[in-house]
Amino acid sequence: MTIGYNTLEVEVDLNAIRHNYRLLRDKGSRVYGVVKADAYGHGLIEVARALEEEGADTFAVGTVGEGMQLRKSGCSKRIISLLGPLNEEDCFNAAQNKIIPFIGEFEQLEMLSAVVSAQGRKVEISLKFDTGMSRLGFSVNELDKLIEWLKINPQICPVLASSHLATSDDPAYEGYMSAQAETFSGILKRLADAGYELEASLANSAGILVHDQVHYSAQRGGIALYGSNPLLGTEWSESGRDLKPAMQVRTNIAAVRELKKGQAISYGCTYTADRDMTVAIVCAGYADGYSRGLSSTGEVCIHGKRAKILGRVCMQLCIVDVSHIEGVKFGDTAYLLGGEGEGHISAEDLAGWWQTITYEIFCLLGMNPRTYK
Ligand code: PLP
Repeated sequence: MTIGYNTLEVEVDLNAIRHNYRLLRDKGSRVYGVVKADAYGHGLIEVARALEEEGADTFAVGTVGEGMQLRKSGCSKRIISLLGPLNEEDCFNAAQNKIIPFIGEFEQLEMLSAVVSAQGRKVEISLKFDTGMSRLGFSVNELDKLIEWLKINPQICPVLASSHLATSDDPAYEGYMSAQAETFSGILKRLADAGYELEASLANSAGILVHDQVHYSAQRGGIALYGSNPLLGTEWSESGRDLKPAMQVRTNIAAVRELKKGQAISYGCTYTADRDMTVAIVCAGYADGYSRGLSSTGEVCIHGKRAKILGRVCMQLCIVDVSHIEGVKFGDTAYLLGGEGEGHISAEDLAGWWQTITYEIFCLLGMNPRTYK
């Protein structure tokens, strides 16, 4: 969304991300920095640099293309791509740029093998297994066939084995998570018996924070790096208590006006003033990734106080009630995320009004122009 018209400004606190990384590293062992999707909207290159300074030696990007972007920025550390190659160009680029792709399909193996064999080179890969997400990855039933295939294709060199947890943030599904870990352990044993003693990673942020039994030799930390506690609202919440939020989003107030009782507000007249009131027109709308789903439910923070959104969020504007806030004027700052004082808005607050998860909020709002501190 960096196309010039934006008024939203995203401020990323890299020190908070460093702090969160140290916290995960102290709980885990080898923590890969998950920087996929432009580091969850916080900036791929900037976040990877900060983590590298903290000692991170492996970065998990979403696609081979993101991995190339990171390489081009000068990153010489290990890069793994959580989504493996989807076409021959991806295969070529992964091999050329030393990006270790996650591979969970025989079609991917065959394609990658053909590309690297034609070049007479070898390529490192991470084997991905489906232990319960039912999304990507080889199944346990395919393991014998996979081992056989690897034996006769030495140009493909597995260095990691991985799987992804579906329920590590939910105490009600702890048994499901344990079953995934048991399946994963079984897979690792069979690989080791076949001569493939691999680095193994299963845990995501929630797994790192609270479940030692899923740590294996490496972990993949994502959302917690960005300061959102994936365990909030559960009995495990304390484990993520010290994470620090890293993103603030602010914008300007385009106008302040007085409304008379009975006046309707915004498209569809879904809100009618129930008293004389003062409203501020805030420069944020769904074109900025500020969802229309926040209509009549969301709040912004102005002068340290909460101001409720009245009626529908528009494309680049929304209207908030500032009757209770002294001295609001044209050009003042409104925080959509963050802000000072009792009006401070957390990513979890926003996710509640938006009926989504903090991951989506960071990814969408993070597409606006960013500054760093
Ligand atoms: N590993 C994989 C394969 C993922 O898709 C993700 C994120 O979705 C992560 C690790 C990081 O998960 P989290 O952000 O919950 O730490």
